[in-house]
Amino acid sequence: MKDLKQAIKEKARQLGFILAGVTSSDPPEHYEIYEAWLDKNHHGAMDYLASERNRSRRADPKQILPECKSILVLALPYSPVSPSSPALPPEEEGSPLSLWERGRVRVAAYALGDDYHDIIPPRLQEIVTFIEEQVGHPIPNRWYTDTGPILERELAQRAGLGWIGKNSMLIHPHKGSTFLLAEILLGIELEPDNPFPTDHCGTCARCLDACPTQCILPNRTLDAPRCISYLTIENKGGIPEDLRPHIQNWIFGCDICQQVCPWNHFSPPADPALEPKIPLPIQTSDLLLSSSEFNQRFKRSPIKRAKRRGYLRNLAIAAGNRRVENDIPILEQAAQDEEELVRIHAQWALKNTG
Ligand code: SF4
Ligand code: SF4
Repeated sequence: MKDLKQAIKEKARQLGFILAGVTSSDPPEHYEIYEAWLDKNHHGAMDYLASERNRSRRADPKQILPECKSILVLALPYSPVSPSSPALPPEEEGSPLSLWERGRVRVAAYALGDDYHDIIPPRLQEIVTFIEEQVGHPIPNRWYTDTGPILERELAQRAGLGWIGKNSMLIHPHKGSTFLLAEILLGIELEPDNPFPTDHCGTCARCLDACPTQCILPNRTLDAPRCISYLTIENKGGIPEDLRPHIQNWIFGCDICQQVCPWNHFSPPADPALEPKIPLPIQTSDLLLSSSEFNQRFKRSPIKRAKRRGYLRNLAIAAGNRRVENDIPILEQAAQDEEELVRIHAQWALKNTG
């Protein structure tokens, strides 16, 4: 099946995937790291990660697709992360211009384009259709793009796509880590690729030093409840006061541990469908968006996942960290918002700014 594998990889490249590799359906060797991570409650409020069903599926891909014989792992690039300083530039402290006017709120690079959950699945379907055409019959299959219970970074390492860095990201020596992973479980035997053989982090510890909340753990996992990505996206409630200053001006996700990673000097350009589209700079008036305005503005963006209340909570925290007088009138209005979550964070921002 070697020719078929090469043909599949060629098809994947035509569809924009910059990396493609095959691994077996064997259980992931390091599953116990995941169990230990759950035991320590490093998954925060993401309870679904600890369900019996989720655990058993992560422990063995055949629990997802009993006919699974091979797993195709793919990577689609998003915008390279800017190598800019992770901290707010000191010369802007006390600037009379608002954070928003300067476009100084920051959004994780993967979220600047359209939602990858809409972009990647049709391409995965196209690959499955291609394989079925090649073999002449339907094939049991199941695909995910961070949507399912699968240890995708370990499978990616096993399929030869790169190593898991100290920042927990999958890193390729020529492509960095600015890509999204996707997997197709296939009921067809394909020759597995060799696992990626080396760890190129060496003595580097830039990501550990730069992480504002020090949430990167020694075993290459994260203490999610302290990670800005979790706090501004997955977390649906309030953000602990002691962590708010560390969030700086990130309003959806955080790229710092990727920005400082030397391997991202080699990041490829974004897939055209994932190029930045959201209108930046985000305006002060976003703190006053109605639900329908929010839904309209972000209907194609991953930012919709935060929902209006989470997005406004995040904007209020960024404003509270920025402390610009011009924002006070808008924060005063936000402090009267119909959502308690927004009111609480806007009041905190006002206290900081006043
Ligand atoms: S995304 Fe930000 S907060 Fe999370 S681990 Fe990386 S640097 Fe730390
Ligand atoms: S910043 Fe350094 S330690 Fe962290 S993932 Fe990159 S190479 Fe590894």
